Amino acid sequence: MSQIILEGKHTCEECNKEFEWFYLVPEHMDSRSFEVARIPKGKQGVRVIEEDKNRMPITISAYCADDDCGTPNTFKIDKK
Ligand SMILES: [Zn+2]
Repeated sequence: MSQIILEGKHTCEECNKEFEWFYLVPEHMDSRSFEVARIPKGKQGVRVIEEDKNRMPITISAYCADDDCGTPNTFKIDKK
């Protein structure tokens, strides 16, 4: 029972501040719910916009962490 965690940093396209994002890949194939629990403090949960056939996110959307901004950013995950 190992879950895949994706996380990274993104610079907001609106305010140019960097924020951290976090995504827990759903464990079950039939689970389509967007899990918002267990996101570490200070990190932004993301919404998957596009995923590959293995259900790995390609394009995600996350809100800027800055209280005065909060702009939704849509961006591709950098594959290492
Ligand atoms: Zn921003």
